[in-house]
Amino acid sequence: MALKDIIGQERAIEILRGCIKRNRVAHAYIFAGDEGIGKKLTAINFAKALNCQKPVTSNELQVTSKNKDSSLVTRHSSLIEIDCCDECSSCIKINKSIHPDFFFIAPENGEIKVDVIRKLQESISYKAFEGGWKVIIIDEAETLNQSAANACLKTLEEPPEQTILILISSMSGLIPKTILSRCQRVNFSPLPFDKIGKLLENKFSAGETMLISMLSGGRPGWALSNNLIEKRDNLFNEFKNLINTIGEDLLDGKDSLEEWFEWVHLWLRDIAVLKATGDTTLLINQDKEREIRDISNKAALSDILKLSNTLYNIKNLLRFNLNKKITLNHTHFLLKETFADSL
Ligand SMILES: [Zn+2]
Repeated sequence: MALKDIIGQERAIEILRGCIKRNRVAHAYIFAGDEGIGKKLTAINFAKALNCQKPVTSNELQVTSKNKDSSLVTRHSSLIEIDCCDECSSCIKINKSIHPDFFFIAPENGEIKVDVIRKLQESISYKAFEGGWKVIIIDEAETLNQSAANACLKTLEEPPEQTILILISSMSGLIPKTILSRCQRVNFSPLPFDKIGKLLENKFSAGETMLISMLSGGRPGWALSNNLIEKRDNLFNEFKNLINTIGEDLLDGKDSLEEWFEWVHLWLRDIAVLKATGDTTLLINQDKEREIRDISNKAALSDILKLSNTLYNIKNLLRFNLNKKITLNHTHFLLKETFADSL
């Protein structure tokens, strides 16, 4: 895979290509945007493009043509874009995460600790082994704990030569401003509905493609995970059960409740839309119309919106290690209060 294969993030990739082309690579970036939309893939392939031994270079073709008044004009059209070859030993080593100048850091048990950053700082204090760029990717950078963030800041204040730090985050608002202000921001957006549909059309039936495209919310990472509909069904059942009983089972096998809360947000959106408009064509979960209608009949629109807002705030607080059991009990209470005896 190369930068050219990443779908729907043309603007972000154009910015990064521009940095390479103009030889103005920043020493730190923040890749910000929803989960599952290609930030990590872009970071890895940007690292490959920077260190590639046979890089594809931009090739501008001069096109000369006659204007209306017969004067000759020359236009430049860029035919080939800067990219990695995906074949040389550098690209292969980065693909396998065994390149000596490529570092990928992700949280363990929900946080990135200072010893990980210190170890990294020691590794990057040497010159690049292969003479190119040292690239450090920090995934879910909002999980840097306070001392890790302080250590990171030190690297940002005195960046080692030929070193690039790429922070990736779907919740960049939680990263300290002192860090963010030292990074060039590159925003990633969810993919338009039709582009997600194109990715899926050879893998799923027309009906499934339509439903998955809507459920994925523009995130190819979600759309292409084969069991999205099945997952939705299971989690929807959990949601319905939680209205009536405290969901002890929800705690099993879940590293975090964040994804579950994202789904809840989607159902509450449908419940509110149906309540407000009565128009079933506006539902995302159109195949669940009957159940959504049953639930929406049990509450006033203002209460549904209030609940949605409260649960959204709880979801954002999950990053601060809320006790899962207490969070679920409280969520159960809120759901029951809003949709009492709905099922
Ligand atoms: Zn290469």
